[in-house]
Amino acid sequence: MAGRNHLYIPGPTNVPNEILNAMHVAMEDHRSPVFPKLLTPLLEDLKKIFRTETGQAFIYPATGTAGWEIALTNTLNPGDKVLIYRFGQFSHLWAEMAKRLGFEVEIHQVPWGMGIPLDQLEARLKEDSDHTIKAVLATHNETATGVTSDIAGVRKAMDAASHPAFLFVDGVSSIASLEFRMDEWGVDGAISGSQKGFMLPAGGAFVAFSQKALAAVETSTYPRCFLDLKDQMTNNANGYTPYTPNLPLLYGLRKALDMLLEEGLENVYARHHRLAEGTRRAVAAWGMKECAQPGFASDTVTAVVVSEDKDARTVISTAFSKYNISLGAGLSEVAGKVFRIGHVGDMNDVSMLGAIAGVEMALLDSGFDIVPGSGVAAAIEYYRSTVK
Ligand code: PLP
Repeated sequence: MAGRNHLYIPGPTNVPNEILNAMHVAMEDHRSPVFPKLLTPLLEDLKKIFRTETGQAFIYPATGTAGWEIALTNTLNPGDKVLIYRFGQFSHLWAEMAKRLGFEVEIHQVPWGMGIPLDQLEARLKEDSDHTIKAVLATHNETATGVTSDIAGVRKAMDAASHPAFLFVDGVSSIASLEFRMDEWGVDGAISGSQKGFMLPAGGAFVAFSQKALAAVETSTYPRCFLDLKDQMTNNANGYTPYTPNLPLLYGLRKALDMLLEEGLENVYARHHRLAEGTRRAVAAWGMKECAQPGFASDTVTAVVVSEDKDARTVISTAFSKYNISLGAGLSEVAGKVFRIGHVGDMNDVSMLGAIAGVEMALLDSGFDIVPGSGVAAAIEYYRSTVK
């Protein structure tokens, strides 16, 4: 089909041409004396995206899933208890991983569409007066449901309970696109991946650890090898990596960081908010509902619920086969019940309108009773009235 396939999935996201070009490099010797000139500034600038001055950032040739494992296995001891609220496929998978790694996992089920219940968290931590819970695992942006949780609020709840557990945050679909403030929010381990807000291909796990978490790396007895932060720390200190780095990804990351920092993180957050708000207005104009309940709507992905007599998979397959656009599928519990529109990464008003128009056509073709042009009109009005 002529024209580009447009990715309106919440990752991998569209990779800008500047980044594609920057990644088109010949291989180099990663033990050469010049390699540190690439890596050391990357690690420093990555900290700016995590908003940490006191923490340390790391790059693994892996994906976000590895980030979960890095946080757990580098700081905890075998059998330690962790607490997690499960409200979507990704918080579910992190909980399952913790179980498979032999940790004791206290799972609190939250209806999909809601985020972390702060009052309940505070009450539970107050109850845990012996501090048996060693880490709180928080999914900042649950990509499956389009729900953002309040991480500043999680920190407040932990402080109100005077609880010393680590705070580990999955920011795979939030960091570099939604407001994220590692130091201010007292996050001990922040986890992200290359293929969403960073606008890169998958294959980079980007993590940042607080000094408290780094101290635990020294004492943790959990067996680990490839993901051992000690190896990263030793090698990174001299500007090298413990194993062969993914060079094109590092060059792409250089460009991505330059682009994000040039735009300014506050502007990046504001852009994602506008893109999301226009999408939400379109959804409302179609007379449809978001999966996210009020107060939890994500600015990187909107999960749209279809009525019970419809299958969201039809919308997704129609959009792909007829209009060459890719939408996110409903995962697990919400398979067939929602489709997801990603508004994350290299997007602007016009690309978002393309997504909304494509969805609208696919909805009409799939027999949805919506007014043609209604979603596009609502988004256009919003974008025009808020453009600077
Ligand atoms: N966490 C969240 C919130 C995600 O959205 C994803 C992937 O979409 C992951 C973790 C897993 O990341 P990866 O697929 O890069 O391993």
